[in-house]
Amino acid sequence: MADLERFSMLIGGKPVDALSGRTFESENPYTGRPWAVVPDGGPEDVDAAVAAARAALEGEWGALTGFARAALLRRLGDLIGENAERLARMEVRDSGKLYREMIGQLTGLGGWYHYYAGLADKIEGRQIPTPNPAYLVYTRREPVGVVAAITPWNSPLLLMTWKLAPALAAGCTVVVKPSEHSPASTLAFAELIERAGFPAGVVNVVTGLSRETGAALAGHPGVDKVAFTGSTATGRAVAKAAAENINKVTLELGGKSPQIVFPDADLPAAANGIVAGVFAATGQTCMAGSRLIVHADVHDELVALVSERAARITLGDPEDAATEMGPVANRPQYEKVLGYLSTAREEGAQVATGGGADEGLGGYFVRPTVLTGVDVDATVVREEVFGPVLAALTFTSEDEALKIANDTPYGLAGAVWTKDVHRAHRVAAKLRTGTVWINAYRVVGPSVPFGGVGASGSGRENGMDAIGEYLENKSVWVELTGGTRDPFTLG
Ligand code: NAD
Repeated sequence: MADLERFSMLIGGKPVDALSGRTFESENPYTGRPWAVVPDGGPEDVDAAVAAARAALEGEWGALTGFARAALLRRLGDLIGENAERLARMEVRDSGKLYREMIGQLTGLGGWYHYYAGLADKIEGRQIPTPNPAYLVYTRREPVGVVAAITPWNSPLLLMTWKLAPALAAGCTVVVKPSEHSPASTLAFAELIERAGFPAGVVNVVTGLSRETGAALAGHPGVDKVAFTGSTATGRAVAKAAAENINKVTLELGGKSPQIVFPDADLPAAANGIVAGVFAATGQTCMAGSRLIVHADVHDELVALVSERAARITLGDPEDAATEMGPVANRPQYEKVLGYLSTAREEGAQVATGGGADEGLGGYFVRPTVLTGVDVDATVVREEVFGPVLAALTFTSEDEALKIANDTPYGLAGAVWTKDVHRAHRVAAKLRTGTVWINAYRVVGPSVPFGGVGASGSGRENGMDAIGEYLENKSVWVELTGGTRDPFTLG
């Protein structure tokens, strides 16, 4: 235990242990060994964090102007840039994601705070005309209040930021609950909140091993809005808890995103995009392009291109710059992915490449896998694997491609690969997803809305409108005549 890094929660501006005094360890999925000790917070710590967030809202923070909030957000964005390397290394140790990806994420992360700083001082109400000239009506856009931000284990800081930056710009206070599988980087990030100069209690971080900690936060009566990223099953529980309190909720959930490839596509470019879509981050991204829907005429050629590249992917130490794919992030996830591979075989899938674990490396390595000959009803086509597994299906007409692509409860993202500009936009319009990439995959930015339809969630993160998820409109009626009126009629 001596060489493990120790972290504290942040509640009311103070680094604190869990009230129970309990801790738990965060495991490095590459080494399979614990590397950090974090507080094992429970419902009582959630109570304290929500109370601190409420006090901040009603105190100094609530009185700050949007201009002052913008200045704090800018400072935080700069501090993230200065600490990008340290935070990226923590995320790698916590989740097994590649340093080469995480340093890119962390270097760009400050951009989100800068972007929302630009909006914090532009939150305007409206003056609204009414049929009754005796009244002046205007709206005020006010912060929703205390926000619960619950995040998953893949890209904890990026997905937290998609909530935190607009929430702070709007003037809300926040309680963050990172995943029990990757809690440390969020606790390290919390130190920057303090250094940036945010008043105590504006941002609070609670960690806990039990899923009850997240449940206590999602259903807390002191919370006004829940912003959640995670699996669809948990999202459903969170939505119910939020509904119980009549709270606003944003849900960013799972996906089964299609990559549609037409015969006129640049096949090497499509193969590269497909590899990026499903093997980058070991396939552990909500937007993984896990269903390849390829025209029958180019199926064999494309599958050969993708399989050849997949077989050459360098697996290994996520901290090594040469590594292209790290391990799956934790044991339950590793077992789940291998379970999907055996089910796929039982259901008749053929393995073009990969197909199992790579035990030689230690840790939870699964070989990049391409499955062909799968049916539209196969489990690996219907369910989110959240691992490096691509299932290839064929089509012969545009309508059929769309039918297969939209035949899923999910609707997070998708891509169209074609050189035909008419077809590209036609298909993009008909895909039931929150994002479509044309001849590209896995690009996001602070200014572009992201989110899903159907079982992939509701509400959008990023972009100008996302700040609206953290604001309420208040209508103010001002009587202008100074007279009185019939009290028994509706004005
Ligand atoms: P998860 O649903 O198991 O956990 C997410 C978070 O919810 C964790 O912090 C967890 O402790 C907490 N939690 C657990 N039970 C809870 C409850 N009853 N109430 C409130 N919180 C609770 O998800 P995960 O396994 O950590 O992450 C993987 C999933 O996240 C995948 O399905 C993936 O597609 C999805 N995801 C979606 C997006 C997106 O933007 N749409 C991004 C990344 C990941």
